[in-house]
Amino acid sequence: MSLRVRLTLLYTSLVGGILLLFGIVVYQLVSINLVDQIDDLLARTASDLVDSMRLNAVGELDMELAPDLELATNVYVQLWERNTGLRFASASISHLREPLDPLDQLPAEPVYRATKVGETDLRVLSVPLSLGNRLVGTLQVGASLAIVEATQRTLLTVLAIGTVASMGLAAMAVSLTTYQALSSLERVTNVALQITRADDLSRRIPYQGPPEDEIGQLIQAFNQTLGRLENLFNAQRRFVADVGHELRTPLTVIKGNVNLMRRLGCGDEESLGSIDSEVDRLTRMIGDLLLLARVESGKLPLDTQIVEMDTLVLEVLQQTSVLAEDRLQVQLGEIDQVLVCGDRDRLKQVLLNLVENAIKYTPEGGEVVVDLGKSENQARIVISDTGPGIPAEDLPHIFERFYRAEKSRTRTKDGKGFGLGLSIAYWIVRNHDGQIEVQSEIGEGTTFSVWLPLAEGEADCQPEV
Ligand code: ADP
Repeated sequence: MSLRVRLTLLYTSLVGGILLLFGIVVYQLVSINLVDQIDDLLARTASDLVDSMRLNAVGELDMELAPDLELATNVYVQLWERNTGLRFASASISHLREPLDPLDQLPAEPVYRATKVGETDLRVLSVPLSLGNRLVGTLQVGASLAIVEATQRTLLTVLAIGTVASMGLAAMAVSLTTYQALSSLERVTNVALQITRADDLSRRIPYQGPPEDEIGQLIQAFNQTLGRLENLFNAQRRFVADVGHELRTPLTVIKGNVNLMRRLGCGDEESLGSIDSEVDRLTRMIGDLLLLARVESGKLPLDTQIVEMDTLVLEVLQQTSVLAEDRLQVQLGEIDQVLVCGDRDRLKQVLLNLVENAIKYTPEGGEVVVDLGKSENQARIVISDTGPGIPAEDLPHIFERFYRAEKSRTRTKDGKGFGLGLSIAYWIVRNHDGQIEVQSEIGEGTTFSVWLPLAEGEADCQPEV
């Protein structure tokens, strides 16, 4: 469930809960108040009636309604004498022979009770009438509860409609505000993902809203982090490039001196050979590092032209088959005529790195196959081998500089690998707006796929300025 839905549900149920509680309290208070008013009316009427009561000559209860006592329309009166029964009933209930509230269930003091006569709900005040200690009769004054019930019904309807409408409004308001707030966050996430995908730390997240609100602050903090990272990466690239340049000169001097010593016949040949090969190795590594530093920063100039990939693939296969010797088979699989736009030498370097790796890591008797084809508007070069495969935990890292899978550190004893070849290939392909992917199964082999945009003709190829 999305955050927006969760927040909307939470706030809507909160508003609904509060209104429900409020409704219950209001309903109860209004009901109590209305019943209190009726009780008041009953008490006043009963008191007036008790005042107008007499004992007649034969000792029976008699009641004369005072001329100024007007019974309210909904008020009913009954006077019950203990011995003779009903002595008086107000006009509207003169036909009623039953007491308004059963007399045998009444306590000895005045009491208010809710009763039902026929279909009508009544509130009845029963007042016991005594002479000395003797109970002589009961006065019952009742009033219809219809007005209370009607008011309760109306109140219930108003409260229910009010609650539902408020919940609807709250849901809309919360949904709208969270949509506004979260859509800014969504934009931040999208730009952050684009930055990651494009490996472009120079980009910043734009924000139109007020910079002091929470999202503005988040974006500012994120942009500051990006700025810092960009500085660090630039410093690191500069460092690698500077050190590379500085190391080249002493290496050239050492190499020159080794050659001189050889010519002069001084020094032992084995040591000179070892120094010579280590100097070559270091020179190659520094060359790779410098190339990587330039290609990573996008500063490597590309000599862009139409490249016939089929010819290039054949050239690479011819060149690398020497490395395979008789150890394994290096074959051309499917091949199509494919044109791409790019720097021929750099693209050749990518293919050389991938095919040389395949040959280097595939054991004797294995097979390396190179395919070239088209898929939609992309050229697809696939280099697959039947080598040992790359462990799943290494796969996400193999395009990182100096990364070498644990086994490769021990397997290649020629000491040629530095873990830079795939990084260089990755960045060259990226600089050609292409993609490089790897699939590998331990014990089955590894497949590298390179995707490059197809070029239809010369016109498509704009050399870099
Ligand atoms: P290296 O100089 O070590 O070959 P790369 O950058 O070319 O450096 O490759 C990085 C790592 O990826 C290698 O050390 C190796 O572990 C792994 N790797 C590359 N290609 C293959 C392959 N075809 N088969 C198995 N492992 C490979």
